[in-house]
Amino acid sequence: MDKLPKCQANYVPLTPLTFLKRASMVYANRTSVIYARVRFTWRQTHDRCCRLASSLRSLNVLKNDVVSVLAPNIPALYEMHFAVPMAGAVLNTINTRLDAKNIATILRHSEAKVFFIDHQYVPLASEALRLLMADPKSSMPLVVVVDDIDTPTGVRLGELEYEQLVHNGDPGYIPNEIEDEWDPIALNYTSGTTSEPKGVVYSHRGAYLSTLSLILGWEMGSEPVYLWSLPMFHCNGWTFTWGVAARGGTNVCIRNTTAQEMYASITMHNVTHMCCAPIVFNILLEAKPHERHHIATPVQVLTGGAPPPASLLEKIEHLGFHVVHAYGLTEATGPALVCEWQTKWNALPRQDQAKLKERQGVSILTLADVDVKDSETMASVPRDGKSMGEIMLRGSSIMKGYFKDEKATAKAFRDGWFVTGDVGVIHPDGYLEIKDRSKDVIISGGENISSVELESVLYRHPGVLEAAVVAMPHPRWGETPCAFVVKNSSGGGVNEDDIIAHCRKNLPGYMVPKVVKFLEELPKTSTGKIQKYQLRAQAKSLVVVAENQSSKKSTQVNRKQPARNKDQLPHEHHILALSRL
Ligand code: ADP
Repeated sequence: MDKLPKCQANYVPLTPLTFLKRASMVYANRTSVIYARVRFTWRQTHDRCCRLASSLRSLNVLKNDVVSVLAPNIPALYEMHFAVPMAGAVLNTINTRLDAKNIATILRHSEAKVFFIDHQYVPLASEALRLLMADPKSSMPLVVVVDDIDTPTGVRLGELEYEQLVHNGDPGYIPNEIEDEWDPIALNYTSGTTSEPKGVVYSHRGAYLSTLSLILGWEMGSEPVYLWSLPMFHCNGWTFTWGVAARGGTNVCIRNTTAQEMYASITMHNVTHMCCAPIVFNILLEAKPHERHHIATPVQVLTGGAPPPASLLEKIEHLGFHVVHAYGLTEATGPALVCEWQTKWNALPRQDQAKLKERQGVSILTLADVDVKDSETMASVPRDGKSMGEIMLRGSSIMKGYFKDEKATAKAFRDGWFVTGDVGVIHPDGYLEIKDRSKDVIISGGENISSVELESVLYRHPGVLEAAVVAMPHPRWGETPCAFVVKNSSGGGVNEDDIIAHCRKNLPGYMVPKVVKFLEELPKTSTGKIQKYQLRAQAKSLVVVAENQSSKKSTQVNRKQPARNKDQLPHEHHILALSRL
């Protein structure tokens, strides 16, 4: 049996491009894309992608060249997920909330050959190109403007426009067969929440397998109507760019993720599925009465990217959304864990269900393994729901590595595992729960305090819309928690003492934030992640001179510890009065 060789009939490189070809035959007349008044069928989408791919080839785009794009969730960005790799090139979707300097850095680092710019972002992109031009070592990409396909604006930057490339392309273009499934398909820069952006490279194989396992993990049936509330530039829309084609679904594209656009699209197009960061739940919950629509049939929502507090899950499900919680990161091609629902949990009260759903869950099918380990010894932590360690993953959805960064790639992989930089615990039932990013864990007097746990309690306060907790320096304990809170529309009269009293009621003393600052909004990345480094910088200017602590035992996370000595252990500490500058 082991002598039977592979051949072209039984060993075909895996690539998500096959999903489009199949969709054009199986779902030919079904609606593939909706945007404002524009509609395409799968046959048309396939035709447009072939044309665009052939135009890219005639612009001398060669195998493994990078094609960058700066655009919101519009049909062109969707089409590029197929057309660019069909031309043999690598798609680089750029986060639209980056500033010109960061965009220039990405264009330079990726050596982009072509740069597609949505008309709305022409001023920002022009500034980025100006910065790029000022650097004599950088080569300039060919610029193509994407005008609005529904309401053309006439905005241009140079000669080329997207629809013209589609129009002039060859509909009979036959893409070269993928020779090696390990070939790159996409290059996604991390948003740099914790460090410099790094270029994460996906293979055709990884993208294909991740797409399939997310469809299965989320139980996405055929003909879904998928609302693009998650930016496609974020991990290629967690692979649902390719996934919607695999299921013959309909992509509902929206330019802005406003409450009005989301509610209107959901009711107008009978949306069945959407993905988003938990922050989008707040947008939906805080919608004005005239922006809201009644959700008649439950919308399946896959959420992740940041911890969704149980109280928020409860509120959003009440509105008619059915949430599945996933955890992942750019390096894992989006979601790597899903909080797979157990039927026996259906009998539990809603609050307990939300608490279970708050956990990040179990591995998706393409992951070979997931574990929580001591990052120094690589020993697995006990499955007791308490012992913290670093979350590590291995499997086919993990990136190829970081583009032109051997050092960072080597650091990310250790002993056959991908090291996530997230700290978590494993419960006895095998479900994993994230406690923090390793850099965000607050280490107070030798105790690890999970900011996620603390935030979850803050979210339960009726006047809190958003909350984030970071470490602030403390002369005795090294660090202590500081909370930043955004009030919701009913939280007008809430003050710092109310929040602290609420935390005292629900948390052990040593975890209670010593300072609560109210903000109009929290600093965030485009994908809804709170930029804790900015909050930490603010917290640094606040000094606690003494406070109330109590004892608790826990496993310490391996992170550079703030200086402290033995007599700083909480159980030896007396209750002191709090004062602050
Ligand atoms: P970046 O690292 O560029 O900010 P990523 O999307 O790769 O962007 O961020 C991944 C990180 O987001 C994870 O490492 C983790 O810290 C956080 N994250 C993702 N999903 C969840 C989740 N469900 N719960 C808690 N944190 C999450």
